[in-house]
Amino acid sequence: MTAPPIASGRVLPTLNEDGTRNWIRPRPSPGRWWRRRQVVAYALMVLFIALPHIPINGHPAFLMSFPKREFHLLGWTFLPTDTLLFMLFLFSTIIGIFLLTALFGRAWCGWACPQTVYLEFLFRPIERFFEGGYAGSRALDRERKWFTPRRVAKYAVYLVISLVLAHTFLAYFVGVDQLSVWMTRSPWEHPTGFFIMALTTIAVWYNFTYFREQTCLIACPYGRWQSVLLDKASIIVAYDARRGEPRGKAGTTTGDCIDCKACVQTCPTGIDIRNGLQMECVHCTQCIDACDAIMDKIEKPRGLIRYSSQEALAGKPKRLIRTRTVLYPIAFTIALGTMLTLLFTKETADVTVLRGLGAPFREEADGSVANQVRIKVANRGSDDARYQIRIEGVTDGRVVAPENPLRVSAGEMRETSVFVLLPRAAFTEGAREVTVTVTDGDRFTTSVPWRLQGPVGTAPATTPGGTP
Ligand code: SF4
Ligand code: SF4
Repeated sequence: MTAPPIASGRVLPTLNEDGTRNWIRPRPSPGRWWRRRQVVAYALMVLFIALPHIPINGHPAFLMSFPKREFHLLGWTFLPTDTLLFMLFLFSTIIGIFLLTALFGRAWCGWACPQTVYLEFLFRPIERFFEGGYAGSRALDRERKWFTPRRVAKYAVYLVISLVLAHTFLAYFVGVDQLSVWMTRSPWEHPTGFFIMALTTIAVWYNFTYFREQTCLIACPYGRWQSVLLDKASIIVAYDARRGEPRGKAGTTTGDCIDCKACVQTCPTGIDIRNGLQMECVHCTQCIDACDAIMDKIEKPRGLIRYSSQEALAGKPKRLIRTRTVLYPIAFTIALGTMLTLLFTKETADVTVLRGLGAPFREEADGSVANQVRIKVANRGSDDARYQIRIEGVTDGRVVAPENPLRVSAGEMRETSVFVLLPRAAFTEGAREVTVTVTDGDRFTTSVPWRLQGPVGTAPATTPGGTP
């Protein structure tokens, strides 16, 4: 049997040269940046759990309901007809991320990305608790003990947390009320929902138990955009090589870096920040805290690793005004401003008038011509409303409306049909112009010109027997 090929060097921080997994167990560095990130992380976790439970204008603060085709966000309701609004929202989000990255590097990754937040502030602390800290985890790795009682207990706790996260995630798409119903009923009554929940639980558990930092290193596209989104004036977490080099044991060299490797041991993606800006760096600041603690011990100034820019580290002046820091805010302001203007000037309801399904009109036995007019009303307001429907311009005929006024709950959309019956003679060249008016009485009124369809020409003569 031939030996497996050996790589000539480390290809990925998570991969050993013989292709086996290099498990990264970062040594905790509880410094000032860690404490700040901790506050942000736990606030974000609380927000994630709470958002589907907070009602604003009668709907959850966030609900993207695919069955109802509605998106509720902080009291606003987006319907399928709001494509332009949604596009503007997406565009301003993307430009906002570009701007944030150009100014502050991968601040999102280090401070707010759910992958970092949950891995570093929930799953890894639990791991250290069960496995006897950083040293305990590394000892178990060395001995290749994957299923000791402590590790199995950790996996079980991870599974419980994954279940909670998966249920919360599902609440963003079905709402907490529906989720509560599902949770108290047999899975056979809602197999699709159960399947999605089970799949999400497995995905979350697998990600945080096994895949971990590989999500950032090989799966997330954002890190790969870094080279185009950053420039040399962007703020990044960086090692000051001019101050640190030449590195060496304390007292043996002139550089401040004593080559203790504390910054490497604490890095959650397993890299050495001293090698310069790298795609794998999520700007988590842990190496700043680790190095600051070392600098304190050897009585050197803090900040050998710090927030800085490549230009500043090279001794060049700081530049806030650059092409991208001018163009991105302009594009962002235009997109967000247009979206907010459209949002705040939008009517409290949307009305869509459609023809009936099937034949455009029907000739009744009494000689009249019937048109079915379908009317969809979307109530964007925060209160339930009753919409009166009028067909104007049919004094020579009659209107049959099975449900008038039409009651529509806040944030909901409903459809009704109205039947207009007119004598055949009321049509000219097979058409009759009318107006469809929908009003809730005070806040909303709209009138839609509408063309009814009818037969062309006079009625065919009938025989005494009643047949043409
Ligand atoms: S922690 Fe600081 S001193 Fe230690 S190796 Fe890293 S950069 Fe050098
Ligand atoms: S190099 Fe520093 S900032 Fe970058 S991921 Fe590692 S510890 Fe975090």
